[in-house]
Amino acid sequence: MEKAREYLQQYYGYESFRKGQEQIIEQVLKGMNTAGIMPTGGGKSICYQIPALLLPGVTLVISPLISLMKDQVDALEQNGIDATFLNSSISGLESSKRMNDIKQGRYKLVYIAPERLENPAFQQELFSVEISLVAIDEAHCISQWGHDFRPSYLKIKTLLKNMPAEPTVLALTATATPHVTDDICQSLGISKEHAVSTGFSRENLFFSVVKEENRGRFLMRYIEKNKNESGIIYAATRKEVDSLHAKLNKAGFKTGRYHAGMNEQDRSTQQDEFIRDEVSLMVATSAFGMGIDKSNVRYVIHYQTPKNMESYYQEAGRAGRDGLDSECILLYSPQDMQIQRFLIDQSNPSQEWQAQELKKLNKMKDYCFTEGCLQAFILRYFGEENPADCGHCENCTDKRDSVDVTTQAQMVLSCMLRMGERFGKTMISQVLTGSRNKKVEEFGFQQLSTYGIINNQTAKDVADFIDFLTAKQYIEMTGGQFPVLKVTNSGREVLLGQKKVLRKEVKQVSSISVDHGLFEELRQLRKEMAAKENVPPFIIFSDASLKDMAAKLPTAEQAFLEVKGVGTQKFERFGTVFIERISRYVQAHPELEANTMITKETSKRSVEPSHLESYRLYQEGKSIKEIGTLRGLSSISVENHLLKCAQERLDIEWDDIFSDEVYNLVLETALHLDSEKLKPLKEALPEHISYFMIRAIMVKAGLEER
Ligand code: ADP
Repeated sequence: MEKAREYLQQYYGYESFRKGQEQIIEQVLKGMNTAGIMPTGGGKSICYQIPALLLPGVTLVISPLISLMKDQVDALEQNGIDATFLNSSISGLESSKRMNDIKQGRYKLVYIAPERLENPAFQQELFSVEISLVAIDEAHCISQWGHDFRPSYLKIKTLLKNMPAEPTVLALTATATPHVTDDICQSLGISKEHAVSTGFSRENLFFSVVKEENRGRFLMRYIEKNKNESGIIYAATRKEVDSLHAKLNKAGFKTGRYHAGMNEQDRSTQQDEFIRDEVSLMVATSAFGMGIDKSNVRYVIHYQTPKNMESYYQEAGRAGRDGLDSECILLYSPQDMQIQRFLIDQSNPSQEWQAQELKKLNKMKDYCFTEGCLQAFILRYFGEENPADCGHCENCTDKRDSVDVTTQAQMVLSCMLRMGERFGKTMISQVLTGSRNKKVEEFGFQQLSTYGIINNQTAKDVADFIDFLTAKQYIEMTGGQFPVLKVTNSGREVLLGQKKVLRKEVKQVSSISVDHGLFEELRQLRKEMAAKENVPPFIIFSDASLKDMAAKLPTAEQAFLEVKGVGTQKFERFGTVFIERISRYVQAHPELEANTMITKETSKRSVEPSHLESYRLYQEGKSIKEIGTLRGLSSISVENHLLKCAQERLDIEWDDIFSDEVYNLVLETALHLDSEKLKPLKEALPEHISYFMIRAIMVKAGLEER
């Protein structure tokens, strides 16, 4: 395991394993067949990739997500790991070339689509390759009890049975009920004790349900507040996607669109632009998302309620794969329930199936109305016993005040009764606001005592209020396409004054943006590098890595290696440019303290420490600028190297940097300032005294004190 930890650092730039990873890797390295059940973003890939590096021969990865394979292979290559894939997207010629390379031992990992296994000749070819580990991604697809059964997954059993040398098997999934887990274990010869489950909880996801205000308005406010972030908005129908897409673009938000009614070319262009951060918003039906692995989706908004919790958690779960805080917001509206019921009614004639789907839909509604922890509700749904409250979903944190709206509710409810409970919300709100609409007059509603009783609001506002009362279940909807509203028993209690109606104040829209200028700059730089390399930006560095850079401000190589997600290869490929950009930023923002020192020994690089390389050139008489040019580093990095050498008691020609006079002046001035920060000191000194001079003087003075 020592070596596994070293590789985690060296190839991936991570300090420690996440929950479950260590145990899974340990079992696999001991040759035990293993099942790993971890939530999306939990870090399943590393569970087979690190063993792949440590085991002889090749690791075969079977995955149904063809569109992800290229990204996965690109990501591995960026980390310095040789990998390839075989699927229907490549030509026969290319395929046989790759197969040859595989046989020659050129790759540590080979991704294949399960359909390949249906070809016996291909299976035969695999037998001549040394395969130590077979990893099965999305392993729930093997189970007929799962929601995503794939017949070609059954071929895996045959493959394993016929393989000349028995490879270790690792099955991975994020969605397995106990029943499905049993099925996976049984099909793949995994003993149940070797199933490692870390549960389904996603600690970085913040769930909320918005049901008391107009969703269109909420959406606009939210997007405005988070406009720099990547988000997905799910809508139930193609028509709704098109209309939202038009609305958002009109409002100035560059938005992509995706649904099954578009042609393939269009869909793939839109998806690509989103993945490459060229468009930060995507409005889509549930057709979108299966094949995408974009790690920096900061929020997922459901504009309409989905049909069941499985779909909801899967779609919402596309937020925050990189582990950073992300939001999952469901905009509830009573009409959605009507639409979903209608769809169930239309789709499958089996009574049993319909009953099952309705049950699931009702659970979805329960989720919208639960007053307990939302994350715990989800976990309970997926079979976890007594899950703890998450402490950060809306229900765990909501402290908004409520306003008593009982009187207005009584006006609406009594008007509905007077109108005979035969109308929808438009007509009811017109009567309440005293509209002169012909239909209102035709029915003689202007005679009602409730006609025009709410004359200080628009019909639209009153309609929103009716939605609120429906969401609170004081009103129910009946009928299909043109729903008729009726007062519920609970509504009658309101009318009788037995119940109060409270409405929460408008929800404050949160901002999940990392408001940091440097983060934005690094994001831009990442985009440029990604375009050059022709890969999605998150493959260069995750948002988590950029955030860590913005926090640690590494302007020296060793410090840069301390950043989360910076392994040796990434460091060598991108270190210089990123350090350069950070240095420039720090220089322009003197209030920030750059991190120029190594805080601890790092195992990522075994070559000569970078500062000593600079020192060697310094001793040869090269100037700071020359060293920078020779090494492709910024002057600031080289200056930092020299100061570090000074701290390690290597000789530095201080006289070349500052005179005695400047030395005394800087120390004298520092003594009279009560701030330890450099900026006020710099401002108190004559202009010609640079930051480097000041820092050098501080280092020298520090050395003299010791
Ligand atoms: P999954 O396949 O389970 O959805 P991934 O394997 O794609 O998850 O990992 C999700 C993210 O977490 C990736 O950005 C990955 O680099 C990161 N990650 C994985 N393991 C660790 C770890 N030990 N420390 C920090 N980040 C990790």
